[in-house]
Amino acid sequence: MARPVSGPLKVDFQPPSVGDRAWMARALERAREAWDQGEVPVGAVLVRDGAILSEAFNNTIRWSDPTAHAEVVAIRKAASGVGDWRLQDTTLYVTLEPCAQCAGAIILARISRLVYATADPKSGMVGSLGNLVQDPRLNHRAKVTTGVLSEASAGLLREFFRERRPRTAAVPFSDLPASPTEDEV
Ligand code: ZN
Repeated sequence: MARPVSGPLKVDFQPPSVGDRAWMARALERAREAWDQGEVPVGAVLVRDGAILSEAFNNTIRWSDPTAHAEVVAIRKAASGVGDWRLQDTTLYVTLEPCAQCAGAIILARISRLVYATADPKSGMVGSLGNLVQDPRLNHRAKVTTGVLSEASAGLLREFFRERRPRTAAVPFSDLPASPTEDEV
C-alpha cells in the first residue's frame, strides 16, 4: 500500500492552447527518432515566442547517462544556446510526464509552462506520484497542460516495450489510462 505523499499532489491543469498540438507532434517526431536509436521513445521541444530553442530525445542508453532524459537534454541545449541558465517565458513540450529529476530541472530553469502528452504512473512527478512543479514551497512554479496527443505518445511507448521484451508479460505503460483531456486544438 502506497504511503501518502507529503506536499501538494493535485495539479492545476490548464486547457491546451492553440499550437500545442503542432509542437507536441514535433516532440513525438523526436520520440520516434529516439526509438530509431534504440532509446526509450520520449521527445521534448522547448519553445519561446513561437520559435524552437531546442529539441531532444532520451539518450540514457547511448550516452550511459541516467540523467540524459529528453527534457534535461533539451534544457541544457537551450540554456547553453541562449547563454542564460534562466529559461523564462518558455514552454516545454514533452511526450511523457516528467520524472522527479526533470520536474526539478524545469523548476531550476524557470520554465514557465509545461505541456506533456501522457501520464507516467510509475515515475511521473507532475500529477502521478506528486507535483514538483507547482509546490508553493519552491521559488518557482510552472503552468501545466496535459492530454495533447496523449494516445499517440502512450501507444508509441507501449509498442516500443512490447517489441523490446516480447517474452515478458509485463509491458510498462500497458496500463496507461487514456487521457480524459485529449484535445482537438
Ligand atoms: Zn526525467
